[in-house]
Amino acid sequence: EKLLEVRNLHASVKEENLKILKGVNLDIGYGELHAIMGPNGSGKSTLANVIMGNPRYKVDSGEIIFEGENIVELTTDERAKKGIFMTFQNPFEIDGVKFSNFLLSAYRKIHGDSESFAQLNKQIDEILSELVVSDNFLNRFLNVGFSGGEKKKSEILQARFLKPKLLILDEIDSGLDVDALRIVANQINKIRESGTSILIITHYKRILNYLDVDKVHVYTDGKIVKSGDFSLADEIEKNGYSVIAG
Ligand code: ADP
Ligand code: MG
Ligand code: MG
Repeated sequence: EKLLEVRNLHASVKEENLKILKGVNLDIGYGELHAIMGPNGSGKSTLANVIMGNPRYKVDSGEIIFEGENIVELTTDERAKKGIFMTFQNPFEIDGVKFSNFLLSAYRKIHGDSESFAQLNKQIDEILSELVVSDNFLNRFLNVGFSGGEKKKSEILQARFLKPKLLILDEIDSGLDVDALRIVANQINKIRESGTSILIITHYKRILNYLDVDKVHVYTDGKIVKSGDFSLADEIEKNGYSVIAG
């Protein structure tokens, strides 16, 4: 059994009746890391949002099977509780919500309250020490006034702390300098070691160089058009999407 099976998924933007996903098929096994690469505007973020259950999108047909269960009708919160987490290409700023409080309450919503706040804070501190961020990172409001790089570190901190079964990273590498890229890649590897399956959406091969990639998928116009191993990322970088997609 796979962790995630996306079957012939078609989906639209609800308000505009605009069809974006046009038959996505994707299987991700337990502990695997898959990369999706594709041009801007092809619907990669939409795929992530539809898997997560963002209510702005409507599934027209097809299935999203997670641990053997079709989750298409579930809310985002229910999917989060089942162990799906996504990081955003453009992370939200939530004024008035302290980052540390946000983390703790998100953790308890998903995992319950068997661990004490002291235990959880200790885990957060360990991750923080690896992230290289300013001392007051957690005392600030969530992502408010964070630099681009800090927002990406904030997202990866949430991902590591919340221990999802499936982690979707939407352009976590965009806008990162070399040092931050290495730190974020290192966190992704640690998340992976804990058993999490990962779907990483990216434009660039450079982050994949740090990771152990099981599969690369080329995604254009709302569907996966080609899949292969890491060498496909080389091919994309050399020749561009259009040549590969045919
Ligand atoms: P990608 O992540 O591959 O760049 P997106 O999924 O962000 O692509 O967007 C695909 C297309 O769908 C774009 O043309 C985008 O403008 C449109 N789109 C996505 N989400 C919405 C939305 N909520 N409202 C209107 N248009 C949307
Ligand atoms: Mg884009
Ligand atoms: Mg996108």
